[in-house]
Amino acid sequence: MKKIRATAGSTMMRNAGRAFFSAGLVMALLTSGLPAELAAQGRGGAQNQDLSLPLVEQAFKMAEGRYLMSFSRYCMLNGPNTANGKGDAATPSRLFDNFYYVGRTDVGAWVLRTSDGLVLFDTLYSTDEAESIIVSGMRELGLDPDEIRMVVLTHSHGDHSGGMPYFREREVPVLVGGPDWEGLGGAPNPESIISDGQVVTFGDTSITFLLIPGHTNGTIGAMFPVFENGERHLALLAGGIGPVGGLEQHRTAIDSLAHVASVTESAGVDVFVDPHEAIIDTGAWEYIMHPEHRLPNQNNLIVGADGFQQFIQMLSTCMQARVVMFEQQAAEAGR
Ligand SMILES: [Zn+2]
Repeated sequence: MKKIRATAGSTMMRNAGRAFFSAGLVMALLTSGLPAELAAQGRGGAQNQDLSLPLVEQAFKMAEGRYLMSFSRYCMLNGPNTANGKGDAATPSRLFDNFYYVGRTDVGAWVLRTSDGLVLFDTLYSTDEAESIIVSGMRELGLDPDEIRMVVLTHSHGDHSGGMPYFREREVPVLVGGPDWEGLGGAPNPESIISDGQVVTFGDTSITFLLIPGHTNGTIGAMFPVFENGERHLALLAGGIGPVGGLEQHRTAIDSLAHVASVTESAGVDVFVDPHEAIIDTGAWEYIMHPEHRLPNQNNLIVGADGFQQFIQMLSTCMQARVVMFEQQAAEAGR
């Protein structure tokens, strides 16, 4: 345990110097008892050693400051979830030349602009929010809601799908990963079902879909180009990168992360977008929530191809650690 603490301390000090927000996060992590939690997992004597710790330590070495929240959330069984559930409308803003944020502070909604209309990703909690946050945010940004050609749900959970009826009433096609239509009353037609590897094109923009079960059975990722001052980057927007449930869902999520890694590595994804940035990537969250702090020619959503792969690797290692924790729990219960 001493070793992890020492590493944590030095990394935290380094990150604390980087930005004020990181310093705040470090304080939050220190007071939320990260070392205590890890220490608790390591307790129990030599014959009762926690075999997940080497994996946790390995993941921690891969955890950049902006991902410490992800690490603390996914590398233990009862990680902190402090940043969730404080949802106000966020300031709508343009994140890239062709990509816009129209979500809340705790859960996202985004618009991708193509030469042939707009694609909306996720719909927040309710039809009221679809109107008062998404549609009104779009108008504020000069985007015409009547030009929405397609709505994509990253998955079926209510914080992403609640506003869907608003768009279906207006006859906008809605696309969802196959198994997730179950909780949404069934797929209206075969074209509304997203399958793995499917490509949908609007004018100059192609979106490649991945099926990445684990969070739900039909969670999807969407890969598309974004432009920063005309320079092309490739983004992955993935709903629910972390599993909900026990051992089986974690194994599924590990497979999905491997799928994400292989597809995005060959494609060269260097931008990651998550519906809950506050608990996944605090660097991205800070950037999205505070347009007034953005500097010209510095887009913090561009993490680089290597940075993105390292993040996915860290998450996968955390999930593997959790599998070990689950197995140990089961063995202990059966003793
Ligand atoms: Zn969810």
